[in-house]
Amino acid sequence: MNEDKINLLKIIDQITYLLELKGENVFKINAFRKAYTIISGISEDISEMFESGKLAGVPGIGKGILSVVADYYNMGYSSALRELESEVPKGLIEINQIRGLGPKKAIQLFYDHGVTDIARLEEFCSSGELANVKGFTQAGAEKLLEHIAAYKENQTQMRLDAATNLVNQIEEQLRTLDKIELFSVSGDFRRSVEVISLLEFVVMTSEGESVLNEIREILGIPGLNFGETTSFKGKTKLLIHLEQEQAGFFRKLYTTTGSTRFVQKYDANVSTGKEVYSEVDIFNYLGFPYIIPEMREDQLLSRIHDNRFEGSDLSREEFKGCFHFHTNYSDGSNTLQEMVSAGIAMGYTYFAVCDHSKASFQANGLREERVFQQSEEISRVAEALGVTIFHGIEADILRDGSLDYGDDFLSNFDFVVASIHSRFSQNREEMTARILRAVENRHADVLGHPSGRILLERPEFDADFAKIIDACKANDVALEINASAYRLDLDWRRIYRAREIGCKFSINPDAHSTTQLKSVDYGIRIARKAGMKCAEVINCYSQEEFHRFIRRK
Ligand SMILES: [Zn+2]
Ligand SMILES: [Zn+2]
Repeated sequence: MNEDKINLLKIIDQITYLLELKGENVFKINAFRKAYTIISGISEDISEMFESGKLAGVPGIGKGILSVVADYYNMGYSSALRELESEVPKGLIEINQIRGLGPKKAIQLFYDHGVTDIARLEEFCSSGELANVKGFTQAGAEKLLEHIAAYKENQTQMRLDAATNLVNQIEEQLRTLDKIELFSVSGDFRRSVEVISLLEFVVMTSEGESVLNEIREILGIPGLNFGETTSFKGKTKLLIHLEQEQAGFFRKLYTTTGSTRFVQKYDANVSTGKEVYSEVDIFNYLGFPYIIPEMREDQLLSRIHDNRFEGSDLSREEFKGCFHFHTNYSDGSNTLQEMVSAGIAMGYTYFAVCDHSKASFQANGLREERVFQQSEEISRVAEALGVTIFHGIEADILRDGSLDYGDDFLSNFDFVVASIHSRFSQNREEMTARILRAVENRHADVLGHPSGRILLERPEFDADFAKIIDACKANDVALEINASAYRLDLDWRRIYRAREIGCKFSINPDAHSTTQLKSVDYGIRIARKAGMKCAEVINCYSQEEFHRFIRRK
């Protein structure tokens, strides 16, 4: 079974389970259960059947299932599942994630034995209580404890958006303590790594350990100790280091920021016993210019002989053009006017709306006549708000690499982001050829979310990315850095190479609502990891420069 299908079935299974927990009506639950069986029994490619409309004709596949399938192939996740997840107690959802338990038993434990979260389940297993419940054994309880341990290890991972929220909360609390003279987030978060499993901080106070109780209190972690990893808000791992004087603070900040290999090579001990008032001083003693935290990675180490130490000058203030966002013309939740107004408030001066194209019909992609309607709407909103709005599109790359509007029709658009939204499981050769053909299309301006990954959910599809990056350079197509915290795609590790050969980049929020416009910040952080400069990013172009870019061929 291919990976797409496995993931889709997992989603349907999870929805069934949550419907059951919610006490939804039996017919609905059975419909999902039946669909699971039907889909697992189909040997044809599901995404193909879905796209051709054939799936809709299969008895037992109703509207509810089809919209889950549509969501999955268009976005890589299910909005119905996300909604259910917000409605059912978190602990119970977690229980179902423990291998070897299964929905029936989880429900039984939840309702009959008050096992409402993992912590209680763990206790229930180790105290011997579980072994006394009908249908369980002592050996089973021990096995379950192993699965719980494995689950916990996995669960500490989070995306950059969730990590940012937690870091903001912790910082807000630390700021209220007068005793703390200096503090900073450190670790992977400070280097803007896209998936974080440990939140690390360094604090400085000359009053020593006496601040510990106050920190325990404001963060609500009675068991917190400096230099020891503890749990924060259930499952997040938190580690706080204490330093009593400034030089120690900056040395600790430098070493805990990492990466491990970077710090091994450039050892902060060179500055021991010297005056240190900032990290810059440490770099001075090392004999190097300052390197921004984001770039302290292996990828930089292997290039350090080039003397390419300069950091990135990217910041949101430099962004003038806001591209690749969706409106309620396709699957966005805000109107064009609302999206553009929010963008203006963020400092953008011109726009390129890129709704979904017709092949993404389940995302309400635009058929030709609606493209013309949208064009009228664009003129109206542009006039009302006094800004330029280019008419863009996020065009689907079909299985053979063609885009889903004809060549003639594509010339109606000012700006084309070409993206893959289906058939992620093609083999490496097919996938590479497919993308190369799309990049060679003379209408393509940007290759959208180039690897198709959804962080912590779906891996990159298999393709020869070196070849794809070369083709982007050769055809003057910008590579997207999709800034959604779920994607952060192109992967920053590939950006180094793309920069070296002189590619252009487009850092886009792929926003489906006004609040998501802000996710562009995650994309900027990722681009900074690769040392990106404003001059390489088409969003930093003036409107005239952008206009020249979209008319280049
Ligand atoms: Zn897309
Ligand atoms: Zn999009």
